[in-house]
Amino acid sequence: MASLAASMVFSALPAKEIPWKQDFPVIIPEVQKLAAGAGSFTVPEKLTVSAPAGFDLTGLEKTLKEHSPEILLEKSEKGLLQFILTERDVPENVEGYTLTVARTGVTVAARHRRGLFYGMQSLRWIVRNSPGNQWKAVRIEDWPDLALRGAYVELRGHGPESIGRYRKVIDMLGMYKYNTLMLEISDGFPFEGNPLSNRKAAFSKQDMMALLETARANQMEIIPFLQAVSHVYWMRAHPKFETDISEGPARTPWNSAYCLSKPLPLELMKKCIRETAEFFQPKYYCIGLDEISYCPFQVCDECRKHDPAELVAGHVGKLEELIRRLGAIPIVAHDQFLENSHVNSRIIKMLDTLDRRNVILVWEYAPYPPAASTLSFTKRGFPVLHMSWTRRLLNTAALPRQAKELGSLGCILSQWWDVDPAFDPEKARRGSPHGYAGSAIGGDYSWKPHPGSIYTSLPYDPVYETRRLLDPRDLPDFSGRKAAEVPLGGVINHAAGGGEEFPDFTPEALAVLQKELASGPEKFRLITSKDRYFGVVLSGSKEDGYASKPVTVPVHCKLAGLSFLMAASTLNELEYNQKPVLGSLKINYLDGKSRTVDLVYRYNLCNWNAGTGGYDARLVNRGIDRHGYLYGFHALDWVNPRPDVLVKEVVFSTTRTSGIAPALFAVSAIDPEGALPAPPDDKAAIRAVPASRKTVEADRKVITCVADFESGAVPADFRIGCLPGRNAGMLKSSIALTPDAPTPGKSLRIDVPPLLKNANTGRVTIDVPLPENKNIRTLLFDYRLSHPEYIQRFDVYLLNPGGGAEALLDFTESGSDNQWRHVNLPVRRLRIRENGGVDPKKPLYLRLGFFVTNMEPMSISLDRIGIADVELPEGCRNKDEMDKSNISPSLNRKDF
Ligand SMILES: [Zn+2]
Repeated sequence: MASLAASMVFSALPAKEIPWKQDFPVIIPEVQKLAAGAGSFTVPEKLTVSAPAGFDLTGLEKTLKEHSPEILLEKSEKGLLQFILTERDVPENVEGYTLTVARTGVTVAARHRRGLFYGMQSLRWIVRNSPGNQWKAVRIEDWPDLALRGAYVELRGHGPESIGRYRKVIDMLGMYKYNTLMLEISDGFPFEGNPLSNRKAAFSKQDMMALLETARANQMEIIPFLQAVSHVYWMRAHPKFETDISEGPARTPWNSAYCLSKPLPLELMKKCIRETAEFFQPKYYCIGLDEISYCPFQVCDECRKHDPAELVAGHVGKLEELIRRLGAIPIVAHDQFLENSHVNSRIIKMLDTLDRRNVILVWEYAPYPPAASTLSFTKRGFPVLHMSWTRRLLNTAALPRQAKELGSLGCILSQWWDVDPAFDPEKARRGSPHGYAGSAIGGDYSWKPHPGSIYTSLPYDPVYETRRLLDPRDLPDFSGRKAAEVPLGGVINHAAGGGEEFPDFTPEALAVLQKELASGPEKFRLITSKDRYFGVVLSGSKEDGYASKPVTVPVHCKLAGLSFLMAASTLNELEYNQKPVLGSLKINYLDGKSRTVDLVYRYNLCNWNAGTGGYDARLVNRGIDRHGYLYGFHALDWVNPRPDVLVKEVVFSTTRTSGIAPALFAVSAIDPEGALPAPPDDKAAIRAVPASRKTVEADRKVITCVADFESGAVPADFRIGCLPGRNAGMLKSSIALTPDAPTPGKSLRIDVPPLLKNANTGRVTIDVPLPENKNIRTLLFDYRLSHPEYIQRFDVYLLNPGGGAEALLDFTESGSDNQWRHVNLPVRRLRIRENGGVDPKKPLYLRLGFFVTNMEPMSISLDRIGIADVELPEGCRNKDEMDKSNISPSLNRKDF
């Protein structure tokens, strides 16, 4: 029970009413002003509609066909539904509109066709979310706060077979009222003469035209994006890449760069920009330029002859000039103009000569990004466009807010590496639902950057809504079906509530929860007694005393499907990146055959604290418990492919050998044929559950401090090193009183001198010997950086002296606050050395490695380096905190 118990000890959220179930049908994005009226409009089967000539009603027709197929639109001079262009009583914004639903009819009014379009989109949400053919009376006045609301999509790795998917994605973005599609062209565009002759099947011009038309139908402008200078992985398909393009060997294909002295890269860029700009006729054109310092730069002899800023500025100037000549405004990324690396600090002065008409794309992926870097560009007179990142959901809400506050052009939502999972349900399983959640959240907050939390204030589940837009056909829908409880009484093994280990409810709150769960189509019933509720909890750890053996739930019934009310304890980010299968539900038929549903974290099994669902985990209830903690109950819906065969039982099992615990609280049979097993006596079942099986974590965990510096001495064999020739071995260490350390006392300070000239990056390593024959499950340490902006990467290894290493963590430092940070790092079972890992039976070192790019003296401070024999998950206790956590591998594009 260890990790489930620990996961419940999370930071308190302010207790407040959550509008999870609201009266009016959900419209995403939230509208600016909504006043409910009296009564409703009964939609006739022939709905007459009048609209300005040429106004496209296809979207509305499509939604009616999907949700109210009996209603047909019929064009009329004066319809019951009217789209009117007018200047009276409508918002001044060209995208603004009013939407009035009265008993007698429906009116959408706007001063511009774009406004009428958004009024129609809102009406489509009303159609989707209204029961029957009754639209509730309302007056909506609405307009966007951000002028540019974009989403990034890339063509890389896709071919003609995906074009239908792209069009669906654009329609989905249109429903969320995005008005811009940033399209990374890479090697996917059908360039004349195919200069990238090694590439696989690319899109055709017809495909591109279909994409463009879909974007236009959704009032979306396309911003082509073609990476220049850095990250030119897309040019690698060119037959002469190695000889005539590449600047030098890249650490990864992604980190390729082209030479700024050779003629071919410029020629290729110009050709590709010209063709794509002529095709898309864009208002803006983005040429990337991000993360130059991660790619080879000034490696060749010719490039080294030039001043770095002049070298980049000269090249970019030629591209800019072409883009402007083609009628577009260039966009460049902001990061190479930050003085955060040795390379950037040499490029930064080109900012003085950069044309002030260029737009700076500020991508700041911290959950709560500081405004400083944006302001540094606006002060110099550059227009700024923000770019947010779906992998950090808090960031997708924070950047649109910042864009509004700072008066920026707008915000683009980026997916980067999880572009596939975002748009492909098969890959969503292996990736994350962030693309699904981010699309809804980004659209919502870009239209109206409201202060509400993405985890507690949204009246909808963003993952579910995006899935409902993209993949409605494979979404199980049990509404309107018969549902019967599959009794769990005989197998329950855990009492929850009455403490902090599970969401804890007052008897009154539990009664409300019970009622709300029962009101859904699955009619879930929690087994309760007073303020406790009961379920089946499978802990991974045998030491906890909980059942880790599979549990069999008898069913004995033919049925159309099953719905499971489930939860899991919180998985930390590092484990999450392994995309773990936590267990399974095996459905056994009477004829001996079976079907197995793997339980995949955040895909179909979510943690207690998840305010959003997973691709196959439907959020059914959300709220705040008696301690002010956020909770979510999720359902996993299973459609029976063999409804004519009797389902004998469901076997619920876990695959985990440590930590995380999946839990099952109720099961419903959908359209059961015949009788289900007789429900056992709840009271007897509850009495059979041991009164308390709670393990007191504090009694069991053993934390061993390997190095603290109170005594004023470093431990024997403690080694501090650096890459030879970079910081020239001039590191100095000292131990001093540090009153602001997590435990005030002495800490170790390592002074790092500036890098030597011509060095891109240095590396400072700290090796700490670990006790032998210890069971290491968690590594702990505290650190502080005087200049976090000079830390390019940070990695953690276990080493055997003389060979054998295992990487545990590799991340990019995102803070800039010079604060102490505490790291809890779980150690999975160590691989033995023969397989490329370490041998835990031999002497073992912990290595902390900091890649530094400092141009001025900086320091790294360390304290309390330790090990524990259990996993300590409190570094990432809940979703909110996980997003704020500093333990975040693959924070940056370089890792993709
Ligand atoms: Zn070169």
